[in-house]
Amino acid sequence: GPKPQNCRRMVVLGAPRVGKTAILRRFLRDGFDEQYEPTREDFHRKVYSIRGETYQIDILDAAGERDFPAKRRLSILTGDMFLLVFSVDDRGSFEEVCSLRSEISSAKAALSRSKAHVSSVPVVVCANKLDLPSEQHAVSRTEALHAFADGCAFYETSAKESKNLEEAFAALAERGGLPLETG
Ligand code: GDP
Repeated sequence: GPKPQNCRRMVVLGAPRVGKTAILRRFLRDGFDEQYEPTREDFHRKVYSIRGETYQIDILDAAGERDFPAKRRLSILTGDMFLLVFSVDDRGSFEEVCSLRSEISSAKAALSRSKAHVSSVPVVVCANKLDLPSEQHAVSRTEALHAFADGCAFYETSAKESKNLEEAFAALAERGGLPLETG
């Protein structure tokens, strides 16, 4: 198995229906499912090798945890890196990601008792469903860039068209200290 220093816990958070499961499905194996299945909390594991070294990412799709603040907080405390997803046609989901970001910052700050550590928490934000026609967009690129300018990476993605997801995952892994080959 992989060495402990090659293992990370990734937590995926965001409002319902933004495409968390579709994004993870792309990451874990290719495929896009048009049909909506409400997800409960779900664990996945990706194990891969690069240049003879084995790496492991344990992924929590924390879909159901919005209704359970204590559970969500525990996921945040035990997570090493965070994928936050909103949908460009859903303004409420953008606001949810903004509040999740501050929740992650304060939880990690309380844990480390040092604000300096907080900006180094690996966070990537996905503005998903970019394929939707622009008249359906409820959050502008400028606004999102502004909201996430301070220290977290921001990617405009489409799970449907498999756009920008490899880049987003590679950025997150790199921030978390793991290599991830793309292409
Ligand atoms: P979750 O609740 O956040 O896990 O969302 P799902 O992954 O289950 O997706 C919710 C719905 O949005 C499903 O009907 C998906 O087919 C659809 N969906 C997910 N990603 C995209 C995308 O990038 N573009 C479009 N147009 N639809 C998407």
